[in-house]
Formats: sequence, structure tokens, C-alpha cells
Amino acid sequence: MTDARIHAILERTVDVPDFPKPGILFKDLTPVFSDPTAFKHVIELFLEAIDGKSPDVIVGIEARGFVIGAALALRAGVGFVPIRKPGKLPRATHRESYALEYGTDALEIHQDAFATGARVVLVDDVLATGGTASAAAKLIDRAGGLLVHQLFLLELGFLDGAGRLAAAAHTSLVRLT
Ligand code: AMP
Repeated sequence: MTDARIHAILERTVDVPDFPKPGILFKDLTPVFSDPTAFKHVIELFLEAIDGKSPDVIVGIEARGFVIGAALALRAGVGFVPIRKPGKLPRATHRESYALEYGTDALEIHQDAFATGARVVLVDDVLATGGTASAAAKLIDRAGGLLVHQLFLLELGFLDGAGRLAAAAHTSLVRLT
């Protein structure tokens, strides 16, 4: 039986056709974040997914990964580290290029973002082709972290992003096929 919390999250997810370009069905999760009950469900379900993983830090990917990641870090009692688009982080960074469902880009992390061997949970809103998350996993590795779990609110299963992910287990609250 589907968790009623997942149903509440799905109800707040809005499909936007042809954004940001023709042919892309954009999953708008801003209504999930603006609904206090749905947002709380997201964080509680993620806390349950990482129970026993003992993370030292939550890493979120710009920009919607910041919204979820910061709230999750506070509730988990650990720190938050951002992975950002190029040129945004002010100190020495590692950089990885990656392919998006709708274009290419690069991501960066501060070289000293966390202690060597830190147990890291990675979080983002949508898993599409997996390019973004796999680049983020490489950055975590290059910064000396140990990726222990990967969290996504929504997985577009038909794009097989899971096949591109790093070896660490992942949880998607909603998986669309
Ligand atoms: P990908 O690298 O293809 O897995 O794309 C994942 C990243 O792009 C996430 O950070 C998402 O925010 C964004 N993204 C990709 N496709 C979509 C989509 N259809 N709807 C909403 N966000 C998307």
C-alpha cells in the first residue's frame, strides 16, 4: 500500500509541459515546498531512508537540493554542504562536467568541504538521466567523502538514471515509469 505521505507529495507535484524547452515535461516541486505538510513528509521520509546510515554531512545540489538538503541536515543534526554551478563557490573547488536531460553543465564543490572520510548523504529533487547525481558523486569522492546514500524526491524511471548512479544505494520517494 502506498504511504499516504507519498500520495500527499504527489498531489502537490505539478507537470509543466515544454519547460525549459519543447519536449521536456518539467516536474515543478515548488508547490511541495510551499505546503508545510507535504514538505514535512518529504523530510520525514528522507530521515527514515537514512536511518542507521550515520551521515556526517548532507550534500545538496543547486538549487532545489539546497531546499531539501538544508531542512534534512537540520533535522538529522548534521552539517550541510552545497554543490554549486561553476563560479559560485568562492574558494578552491573541484569541478565536474555532466550532461543534463536538457543540456550540459558543470558542478563544483569546495575542496575542503568536509573532513576526509566523512560519511555523506547526497540529495536532489529529481533524478532524470543521472548525469547530475553521478557528477556530484565524483565531486564527493574527489573531496575525500564516503557516499553512503543518495536521496531523490522524484525519479523519472523511464530515463534509467539509476543505471548511471554511483554504487551507493539510493531512495526515490516517487518513481515514475
Ligand atoms: P539529470 O542530470 O538528467 O538526472 O537531471 C537532474 C537535474 O536536472 C535535477 O537537478 C533536476 O532538478 C533537473 N531536472 C532534470 N529533468 C527534470 C524534469 N523533467 N523536471 C524537473 N527537473 C528536472
